[in-house]
Amino acid sequence: MSALRGVGPRATARLAAFGIESVQDVLFHLPRRYEDRTRVMPIGGLRPGDRAVIDAVVDLAEIKFGRRRSLLVRVSDGSGSLLLRFFHFNKLQQQGFERGARVRIFGEVRRGPVMLEMVHPEYQRLEESENRPVDEQLTAIYPTTEGVHQLALRKLSDQALALLETSRLPEWLPATLLDDLQLSDLHSALQYVHRPPPNADLAALEAGTHPAQQRLAFEEMLAHHLSLKAMRQRAERHSAMPLHGGQALLERFLAALPFALTAAQQRVLAELQHDLVRSHPMMRLVQGDVGSGKTVVAAAAAIQAVASGCQVAIMAPTELLAEQHFRNFATWFGCLDIQVAWLSGKVKGKPRGTVLAALQSGEAQVVIGTHALFQDDVVFRQLGLVIIDEQHRFGVHQRLALRDKGREKQLLPHQLIMTATPIPRTLAMSVYADLDSSVIDEMPPGRIPVHTVALPDGRRAEVIQRVREACRKGLQAYWVCTLIEESESLQCQAAEDTAVLLREALDELRVGLVHGRMKDADKQQCMDAFKRGEVDLLVATTVIEVGVDVPNASLMIVENAERLGLAQLHQLRGRVGRGAAQSSCVLMYRAPLSALARQRLAVLRETSDGFEIARRDLELRGPGEVLGTRQTGMIQFRIADLLRDQDLLDKVEQAADYLARHCAESVQPVIRRWLGRMARYGGV
Ligand code: ADP
Ligand code: MG
Repeated sequence: MSALRGVGPRATARLAAFGIESVQDVLFHLPRRYEDRTRVMPIGGLRPGDRAVIDAVVDLAEIKFGRRRSLLVRVSDGSGSLLLRFFHFNKLQQQGFERGARVRIFGEVRRGPVMLEMVHPEYQRLEESENRPVDEQLTAIYPTTEGVHQLALRKLSDQALALLETSRLPEWLPATLLDDLQLSDLHSALQYVHRPPPNADLAALEAGTHPAQQRLAFEEMLAHHLSLKAMRQRAERHSAMPLHGGQALLERFLAALPFALTAAQQRVLAELQHDLVRSHPMMRLVQGDVGSGKTVVAAAAAIQAVASGCQVAIMAPTELLAEQHFRNFATWFGCLDIQVAWLSGKVKGKPRGTVLAALQSGEAQVVIGTHALFQDDVVFRQLGLVIIDEQHRFGVHQRLALRDKGREKQLLPHQLIMTATPIPRTLAMSVYADLDSSVIDEMPPGRIPVHTVALPDGRRAEVIQRVREACRKGLQAYWVCTLIEESESLQCQAAEDTAVLLREALDELRVGLVHGRMKDADKQQCMDAFKRGEVDLLVATTVIEVGVDVPNASLMIVENAERLGLAQLHQLRGRVGRGAAQSSCVLMYRAPLSALARQRLAVLRETSDGFEIARRDLELRGPGEVLGTRQTGMIQFRIADLLRDQDLLDKVEQAADYLARHCAESVQPVIRRWLGRMARYGGV
């Protein structure tokens, strides 16, 4: 920034907080919209909503003492008259508008009570016969923040663009590639976007679809894609323990299951097995809709690792889910003589010491837990496979941290990442390009789609009646309490209050309660009772969102459904529809619904296909929301918009291949230019 004039220490700090730390950052801080100040317009041709420059003569200026003191100035230019309205003004300003004075004015036209008006326009006095030139380019309007003003940004970008003329930014993309993809060079794209000529297509510029903007978005997306690919290649250079064993053990495991694997499960398992025997670390994402049966597939992979003499770490995002996995695995693996350990943040003191010792000695072959697994003092004897369930709850960095556990002997563990939040290709390419992907695209047989309705919470009495009838028939139900605040204590309070009310309203039913603030033992006791059918109605917070598996539960009520993300609602709803009975889900909302909320709830009523839901969610809300805030750190784009620019993805892939093959030396510079410090996170 020292190359730019007029940026003192205070401005530097403010700009830095706004993400602008270098001349290049100034250049990449693109205008949000543009104003056409290149032509003087006749007043007679103006319409409400126009933003225009006019040259006019003052007819009359007067102070009006109405509800607010204001200065009204009537001006005209021979084609018509217009009223300027100021609420803040000083004596000097008022005197400047003497009758007959010439002024150049810029502002937004709106309809006034008597004639067209401009409120607080920008203006300059013109001398008697002055013929002042208008701007030669469209005026860029930059996104601003507190303490960083429009004019300051415009001056900075003027300087940065001038610097660009003398010391051009290097063009890392070869001319042949740019030609092929019909992209302009970086320099002219930047110049154009900051200072478009008067005849520029304003609509395209404001929509962000102008070729000059697309050129920049393209390179940014390319940089992200390349960075993930580089991460991937670095991992490929590492070695991993080939896991050859386990066929006999696996057959015993599968034979003991009460069901046969679906064709999709078998296919994905074969893909995993194929990866695991390689001497490079597997990095595979398994996507499968809620209830598609990812857990058994993971268990089968774990068996292969254990039978090959390695340890397996399985990480789940919530205590409840981790515990459920622990129980499942302990049961399945108990018969196979595989030692399964449990580790969460709540395991402390001596028990924790025991688990850590068992992991270090190798006595514990499988460990299941929460993020407590990647703390520093957890040491494995030979970690061969890391399984991460419901990846969307974790950040990329946590994933890497756990993988690094197995590094001591220059071997990386294999990685299996499972998610029920389907990732549209758009996002996958930008966020998961470092992973191979498998999809379990088939549900276990006999599943009946959940019947979903949306009701205003004014009809709560009806809903309660519905719960009563379902439970009378021997079915079980969930009542999910949600709040918009992430405050866990408020959520838990809401669940407790609701449980009290429902116990009163449904005194013949056995009502249980689970939330995150309860003691583990109590929580588990309640879940067990629900699982055994000793609780009819389970009142819960969203702790039950992922993983919980109770097939007899066939009715779910979700409160404040309009406030949850579609993916989250889909996850929640996935808790029912697991048994033989027709299940239903009631989405209760607080009326009135906004148009967007109405559309979103409609998506859930219309489809139970997680991929379709994710696609619609992406359309309705954008990628940050779909992936959850934890992962958006990875995909903070400055210019590109994954949704708007998804058509560029094919070109991005093409270009990435081309660069890798013909000018590998450009790859790092492109990544560095766009991701800067962020690129280092991906480092291995
Ligand atoms: P998710 O993919 O959501 O993690 P789970 O692994 O929890 O799904 O499986 C959901 C339920 O389906 C479990 O009760 C599991 O035992 C059962 N299941 C898994 N695979 C099959 C199958 N091939 N046939 C029948 N039931 C299955
Ligand atoms: Mg699961």
